[in-house]
Amino acid sequence: MPDVVDKQTRSRMMSGIRGKNTRPELLVRHELHRRGFRYRLHVRGMPGVPDLVLPKYHAVVFVHGCYWHRHPGCRYTTTPGTNLEFWIPKFHRTVEHDREVIAKLRDQNWRIATVWECVTRREPIEEIGETLGSWLRADGRMLELPDLAPSAGLNDLDVYRQTSMRKVAESQPDHDDPTP
Ligand SMILES: [Zn+2]
Repeated sequence: MPDVVDKQTRSRMMSGIRGKNTRPELLVRHELHRRGFRYRLHVRGMPGVPDLVLPKYHAVVFVHGCYWHRHPGCRYTTTPGTNLEFWIPKFHRTVEHDREVIAKLRDQNWRIATVWECVTRREPIEEIGETLGSWLRADGRMLELPDLAPSAGLNDLDVYRQTSMRKVAESQPDHDDPTP
């Protein structure tokens, strides 16, 4: 299937979605730096252009906005009230893209940490830094903050998808006119 937008446009679209140098990302960066970790930022040529790459630990860190990346079961993962026909497929593409990125990075043996925006609003950055730091120094393959059982995450995502698709179906005009 042909791509309808060229590479440059697509990367601009994706970077718009990704929201680089956001406040949560800066918090995580500064905290890791304070703890002595050194990283490269937004490394082009790597799947998903990770926010932080720590070659020494063979690890990457994504700091995801809950809304755009559809954090499962999160209060910030709201759905717009209108234009669902536009938004739902767009959200699905983002979620699919993120899954593909993780699969590719795993294939390349990268360790992957995902820090969701909501945890940076809820918990002191020192605690997040402590957890991230311990994970980096150990050998876990994946880390997600806030911690969520993978199965719970998938179930939530499936529920989200079903709900959103039903909303799309319900939003189709059916010419209900309550006035006689
Ligand atoms: Zn969240």
